[in-house]
Amino acid sequence: MTEFVPASRVSRIKSSPSVSAAARVRELKAEGRRILDLTVGEPDFDTPAHVKDAAAAAISRGETKYTSVNGTPELQRAILQTLELKTGLHYTPAEITIGGGAKQVIFTAFMATLDQGDEVVIPAPYWVSYPDMVLANDGSPVIVPCGEDVGFKLTPEALAGAITDRTKWLILNTPSNPTGAVYSREELAALAAVLEDHPQVLVLTDEIYDEIHFGAGKLSSLVAVAPGLKDRVLLVNGVSKAYAMTGWRLGYGAGPAALVGAINKLQSQISSCPSSVSQAAAAAALTGDQSFVRDSLETYRERRDVAVAALNAIDGLSCATPEGAFYAYVNCSGVIGKSTREGRLISTDEDFTLYLLDEVGVAVIQGSAYGLGPYFRISYATGLPVIEESIAAIDKAVQALS
Ligand code: PLP
Repeated sequence: MTEFVPASRVSRIKSSPSVSAAARVRELKAEGRRILDLTVGEPDFDTPAHVKDAAAAAISRGETKYTSVNGTPELQRAILQTLELKTGLHYTPAEITIGGGAKQVIFTAFMATLDQGDEVVIPAPYWVSYPDMVLANDGSPVIVPCGEDVGFKLTPEALAGAITDRTKWLILNTPSNPTGAVYSREELAALAAVLEDHPQVLVLTDEIYDEIHFGAGKLSSLVAVAPGLKDRVLLVNGVSKAYAMTGWRLGYGAGPAALVGAINKLQSQISSCPSSVSQAAAAAALTGDQSFVRDSLETYRERRDVAVAALNAIDGLSCATPEGAFYAYVNCSGVIGKSTREGRLISTDEDFTLYLLDEVGVAVIQGSAYGLGPYFRISYATGLPVIEESIAAIDKAVQALS
């Protein structure tokens, strides 16, 4: 057989580091090693029973056919109502798109808008998929480092400095994966003021973790803070994280009808629509009893507090308190330059994460995968006993360095 050569877009991108990390953990477990896994990017809870029941009922009613590209009437109503609650703004069915997860909505949005060389401003640390999604769609990621000194958040000055004539999109992810940083109303207003001067720039606000934020009140959304930007903001959200529904693959986007129309045109040729059964489940999740969301938030808060206190007690590591999502981004500059008992030098955060896996069987993801090192990300979407045991093991591993 002739050698297979993939399209250039495939060689431009890499597989998701978090998916690779999960695969590595599975491999090691299959070899019989006990691994304490802090890499997981999904809730450890089961999907709420009333949501599963709604899906089963949809199957029984025969709702197992194609739907319209932007969803069943029930799901559309549920999304529009949710958007109104979250932003105070009114959207119409022509202004919403749905996809197989927020991930697919974001990918299709780039496919619908990027031409060769169009720039996408991505604050770092970033969700690992953004740069590759941009590259796969012929765009150029413009990475803007946002250090711990600025709370891992994009400042108005940094935004103004990153925008050029080629800028097509700015991505804002709040609460952030991997840092848990949350933009306040004031911070969003200051970014909006910069965007006023650049009317060609679209903004993708990824709010997939919006229900997991530990501050008082609702999360501030850019489009709610600056409704004047509504004609160029694509608000992306979904049911994966808030309702423990990662496997149902259902996300949505809301934005101006022309942009959404282009996304839906592509979607009509990609998959026609996401699963009808998942749509019924998502509608039930968005409109039904929200106590699952409140209860899981309290569980995450307790785990966060335990994890952050234990990590900060380790000499050589430090960790800012995340305000949302279920991740902590741990500064490990204090261990860089040290050596293991076998004399191996730890010169990068990746060296450190490999050492943790080898030495104490704790799996975390290196900060360099998210565009800002030397850090590592832990997920606390796992039970407290695992969190406590893992951090105690990390402590032991750090103490063994010299
Ligand atoms: N956006 C961010 C920041 C994420 O961390 C993730 C999942 O890890 C997604 C989007 C994708 O969510 P979904 O499961 O809806 O595709």
